[in-house]
Amino acid sequence: MPDERPMISWEQAVETVLSRTGLLGTEKIPLADARNRILAAAVRADVDSPPFDRSAMDGYAVRSADIGPAGADLEIIEKIAAGSLPTLPIGPGQTARIFTGAPIPEGADAVQIQERTEAGESERKVRILEPVPPGENIRRQGEEVRAGQVVLEKGSPIGAAEIGMLAWTGNDQVPVARRPRVSILSTGDELVEPGILPAGAQIRNSNGPMLTALAAAAGGNPDYLGIAGDEPGPLRALMARGLSADLFLVSGGVSVGQRDRVRPFLEEMGVAIEFHGVAIRPGKPALFGRRGETLVFGLPGNPVSCLVIFRCLVAPAIRKLQGHRQPSPLLIPATLGRPVRRNRKRLLFLQARLEPGPGGLVAEPVSTTGSADLQSVVRSNAMILIPAGADTLPAGAAVMVLPDESR
Ligand code: AMP
Ligand code: MG
Repeated sequence: MPDERPMISWEQAVETVLSRTGLLGTEKIPLADARNRILAAAVRADVDSPPFDRSAMDGYAVRSADIGPAGADLEIIEKIAAGSLPTLPIGPGQTARIFTGAPIPEGADAVQIQERTEAGESERKVRILEPVPPGENIRRQGEEVRAGQVVLEKGSPIGAAEIGMLAWTGNDQVPVARRPRVSILSTGDELVEPGILPAGAQIRNSNGPMLTALAAAAGGNPDYLGIAGDEPGPLRALMARGLSADLFLVSGGVSVGQRDRVRPFLEEMGVAIEFHGVAIRPGKPALFGRRGETLVFGLPGNPVSCLVIFRCLVAPAIRKLQGHRQPSPLLIPATLGRPVRRNRKRLLFLQARLEPGPGGLVAEPVSTTGSADLQSVVRSNAMILIPAGADTLPAGAAVMVLPDESR
């Protein structure tokens, strides 16, 4: 691709993608299937938490005023386990044996822990060894959450804690955004599927399976269309199928070579190109367009470039389609592990290992032979963003990194 082609910055590219991306519809699904989906409505508590005043410890429910500096001998009137209701009020000189999570009986205003008690002269008696202030070891009704309060925001990604919260709020059916259908097409005459031993000038299709995995991890519903050669007929037919999805990913053939037919064919099929060329390395030839509600990404054929474009441009679109509250990439600060020569014009995405260091996270660039080198990605767990410039960024410089969320 000639260098004169106008390139937009990565930030502009993300903004363009997100501003052109609408919201998909919603559906209700069983709680058991809700992990990794995006919540389509806020969830409110329908009960207080705790639902009643309850004991935080195993011990004795007491009237704190009954216990002097030297302790007190109290009469045990009943035993209250979690799940059972007290039947008697605690009167002067009385106590109830109580366990964690059990309701506090009427009359009691504190729980003395069992470690500060000893057996009394009979089974019905206990010696409380120390006084206890009113309210001690009691979790009051509604102290954590009040009924009616929003406990999960619309747009929350649903992980394990959210599943727990949905269960607690009685949501065995969960309103979520529909998963975007993501069509994936690999192009190139040289490609064969993984089960085949490449002969002559063939290479295996890494991008098809990789994009399928990336799309699923990002919340999409992948639909792998296979390999299209560079011959116009079959390529057109498969591209037409891809354009019926919510999102169409086509890898390879997106540069400006003789046989790079992706862009002209997309245009012929009515796709409006929003940008073609982003000032990043790797991934410069990336293309983004739209036809109706369908978003189209042309990704470079080199596997590392393809993966970088997915993570820095496509994943945000998949999140936005589902109303994710944080669609743009979440960058985190780290310090650079060794010096890096900047690129004069383009933002570098360097494969890196993010490791804990003495003063925070250290991002150590992983050596690579170039954008076909998937090994460098396998050995990495993040990408470092190195802004364009003429100088060398020294070891210890503050950088932003994009952690790998797909594993
Ligand atoms: P292209 O973007 O079509 O110019 O391809 C750039 C490089 O990536 C070439 O060396 C292609 O052989 C290679 N390539 C294209 N598609 C794939 C694929 N699906 N899997 C692995 N390598 C690919
Ligand atoms: Mg090609």
